[in-house]
Amino acid sequence: LQGNLNKAEAYLARFKRDGVLNQIGGEAVPALDGATFETLSPVDLKPLAKVARGGAVDIDRAAKAAKAAFPVWAAMPGEARKKLLHRIADAIEARAEEIAFVECMDTGQALKFMAKAALRGAENFRFFADRAPEARDGETLRTMGQVNLTTRVPIGPVGIITPWNTPFMLSTWKIAPALAAGCTVVHKPAEFSPLTARLLVEIAEEAGLPKGVWNLVNGLGEDAGKALTEHPDIKAIGFVGESRTGSMIMRQGADTLKRVHFELGGKNPVIVFADADLERAADAAVFMIYSLNGERCTSSSRLLIEAPIYESFTAKVAERAKRIVVGHPLDPKTVVGPLIHPEHEKKVLSYIDIGRSEGATLAVGGGKVVGPGGGCYVGPTLFTNVTNGMRIAQEEIFGPVLSAIPFKDEADALTLANDTQYGLTGYLWTSDVTRAFRFTDALDAGMIWVNSENVRHLPTPFGGVKNSGIGRDGGDHSFDFYMETKNVAFAT
Ligand code: NAD
Repeated sequence: LQGNLNKAEAYLARFKRDGVLNQIGGEAVPALDGATFETLSPVDLKPLAKVARGGAVDIDRAAKAAKAAFPVWAAMPGEARKKLLHRIADAIEARAEEIAFVECMDTGQALKFMAKAALRGAENFRFFADRAPEARDGETLRTMGQVNLTTRVPIGPVGIITPWNTPFMLSTWKIAPALAAGCTVVHKPAEFSPLTARLLVEIAEEAGLPKGVWNLVNGLGEDAGKALTEHPDIKAIGFVGESRTGSMIMRQGADTLKRVHFELGGKNPVIVFADADLERAADAAVFMIYSLNGERCTSSSRLLIEAPIYESFTAKVAERAKRIVVGHPLDPKTVVGPLIHPEHEKKVLSYIDIGRSEGATLAVGGGKVVGPGGGCYVGPTLFTNVTNGMRIAQEEIFGPVLSAIPFKDEADALTLANDTQYGLTGYLWTSDVTRAFRFTDALDAGMIWVNSENVRHLPTPFGGVKNSGIGRDGGDHSFDFYMETKNVAFAT
């Protein structure tokens, strides 16, 4: 750990010294009025850096820079964009350690996962880079007296608004396809963890991305974020965050008729039937709620278990949960690090109190843990004897808190699984293939894994139903969002 702490200090020194500036038109700039806010490390609650606190005027400058850069970027041949995006991926890989260490200290996420997240960022760029040359390819539709040419063109400058939980990976997931499609970008990262967004835009420009193609404005959601969603030059908003912020963005973007893509919250069920491989199911259920501190949109926060195995299966989960290492995010053994911010820690702890008062049984954890640095550590927590009407079973806690609920039969499992406002992911464990088809067909979720934890295959659609989102990305779906489809009919 000490070696990692020394490295982290070296990587963070520049942020302490220079703060985190915005990037507008290729220039690193403070907010126009000089305003800043502090980002804290969740490890010890000490400030890591002063961050430029942009507002509407900064967003306006960034949107104008993105608009000015758009014609040239959009006209660049796909092959050239492909090469450049691969260069960005190379540069991410070359600086993966720095990115991971900074991310751990800014978010509290464990190095075990952030080392992979940094590399996944590079993979996101490579994936969309390879698709850039064909992004505009269309089709020819012939009919009597007419030849139709259908193509796609980039929609224009777009706004990307990201959350704090895994900011680096998520930013690459949203920005790489926008650039591959030929859009220019204004990125507004989350105020709780802004550091790696700064690294990312620098990496991109050092790799040769033309000035103004990618602009970064830090600031609060209610001013910089809101201004971005209202700006007339911004043609679409790719947003990842809470469901209620999604509704605000929809309202804010109404006057300028913004196209929106929302990846929102979840209360995702993992459904375990008695005929499943129960050891694998227990491993996966534990992984999906306690990795990434439970601060994960796809986390399996509701564990639905067939009644006859309820006791034995929750015992397996409890035994695994108790063994999870809570510790410093830079300690390679750590699985659960500190939660992002004292405000969020308070929210998570309040749900633990709510669960107790609702009459659920606290089987594991249940409170603050004293960890290195004294930050926002909350231990892996398991509630048993939960009923689906309880708030801990309905509301997104976004922390390491799992609610275990028994079900009688398949119909009951389906009713419980769908009885939520959300529908992002579902995880089904059964060895009955017919049941798996039947169940997944009826389950309200955008993404379902059968006999597996969340394993992403990047061409597949990513997104949720109900309050978990609007639209899909991944593969060609991302290009559909960032591009307009255009049809030209020629008379013959
Ligand atoms: P949040 O909605 O509070 O904030 C997300 C971003 O929106 C931040 O950059 C914030 O500054 C900005 N914002 C806030 N108010 C705004 C406004 N009025 N206009 C424009 N922008 C505004 O979310 P969070 O707390 O940062 O992140 C946690 C949430 O994100 C959870 O609900 C989680 O499930 C969700 N999430 C979803 C996915 C997914 O892919 N579905 C992935 C990760 C996180």
